[in-house]
Amino acid sequence: MAWRRLLESALPSRAVMFDTTLRDGEQTAGAALRPDDKVRLAEALADLGVDVIEAGFPPVSSGESTAIKEITAAGLSSKVCVLSRCEKSDIDAAAKVNPQWIHVFIATSDIHLKHKLRMTREQVLEKAVSSVEYAKSYGFTVHFSAEDATRTEVPYLLQVFQAVEKAGADSLDIPDTVGTIIPTAMKRLVATVKNSVKIPVAVHCHDDFGLAVANSLAGVEAGAEIVHATINGIGERAGNASLEEVAASLKFLYGVETNIRFEKIFRVSRLVERLMGITVPKNKAIVGDNAFAHESGIHVHGILGSPTTYEPVMPEVFGRRRRIVFGKHSGIHGLEAFLREYGYSVDRDKISSILRSVKEVADGGGKVSEELVLSLADEVYGRTGRQRSYVKNVYLMLSNDRFTAGCELMVAGEFVKGEGLGSSAVEAALSAALNAVRKVVDVQIVDMKVHAPYFVNHAAEAEVVISAAGEELVGRGLGQDPVHAVVSAVASAAHQLLFSQRRLEAG
Ligand code: MN
Repeated sequence: MAWRRLLESALPSRAVMFDTTLRDGEQTAGAALRPDDKVRLAEALADLGVDVIEAGFPPVSSGESTAIKEITAAGLSSKVCVLSRCEKSDIDAAAKVNPQWIHVFIATSDIHLKHKLRMTREQVLEKAVSSVEYAKSYGFTVHFSAEDATRTEVPYLLQVFQAVEKAGADSLDIPDTVGTIIPTAMKRLVATVKNSVKIPVAVHCHDDFGLAVANSLAGVEAGAEIVHATINGIGERAGNASLEEVAASLKFLYGVETNIRFEKIFRVSRLVERLMGITVPKNKAIVGDNAFAHESGIHVHGILGSPTTYEPVMPEVFGRRRRIVFGKHSGIHGLEAFLREYGYSVDRDKISSILRSVKEVADGGGKVSEELVLSLADEVYGRTGRQRSYVKNVYLMLSNDRFTAGCELMVAGEFVKGEGLGSSAVEAALSAALNAVRKVVDVQIVDMKVHAPYFVNHAAEAEVVISAAGEELVGRGLGQDPVHAVVSAVASAAHQLLFSQRRLEAG
């Protein structure tokens, strides 16, 4: 980056990623994981390369304790940490689940002292010190947080930090508990803390004003060695700093290394999205559906020249693929490139006329699927009977809370039917569509996502990823509702798979 030399502070060469998806992330209103899923996510986080996994807060429930115990017993490559209040009973509960790290916290701001803890500053200081000593007596690596640190009087905050350092804490954390600091202030606060202690310092930022990532990075600029973050930025209220954004900014903007294996980040994001039930917005950096999608003719033209024109980092770096979307902003170059891929000759007049039709559909408020572009091309090029996928029929039944779905599809010139069951209409439809295409090709479902805003023409969009014989394919479908969109997406993915296999055999 051209501006990097302008940073006056010396950046660390490496930052520690402290992942709290399974603790603060799971504290998101309405999120809860089954113990099995918690273990599965912990394994995925370790595989992603996070340094520390904050696995949970044992006193929450017996399921929570069981899950954490399983995580600590799994021998993961990440350190496993649990949260604990400055209470003997919490620290004892933590010891029962056998973590390597313990994250003890107590609030230090006057607001929390007065309205929550009803304690004096002296009492809080005493409790922080005795709890750190008690946690150390178990042999844990102790990470100490001064909750609401950014609303704590700075001299008192430093007094607490110095006291717990003396008591044996291994690292300190500065939580911006209600997300009210700004980057400039965070940078100064971390610098001040760094000048007063010797042990490593962490930042834990919340996104109430959309500044969690910026504040975290400002902390690193001032020398913070550890960053707390969650996958997809989930967490209390507006969430925490997003791990993918922090780690990617550190690596690709600041040049600070982490242990994160970026090529795995998209899959982990999708896993968190699915298991937590918290949808990632389309425009979310790095992991959102549109993060590497282009529609505007000017941008697509640039991308076809070189992706560096409009992409800061190649999508493959994050385990993703670029996507060209057709709509009212489309241009001739993108359409030409797309049609060439499907074997259409380059004929500017014909392609211009297809482009006009695409824009007419988009101006009418409709979304434009790749299938629609291909059928417009067939008309203009006078091709008939080209093999394509489409949904001929879908039906649904609900009885005793179980859905049965059936569908009839045309896939690569073959007519196939399937039926499926599910606890939701979409699940049943997915199963029916998979059973149908399995008549012609053996596929497994890898991932699925549905967008279904109300009151928009062709409202629902679905994306499925299927795999067959080691090859993965993405199918997209549009429909008047999620059921049709999902069936159409499966048909499209299976069609592409067969189409490419047959082209290989033919060629
Ligand atoms: Mn928090």
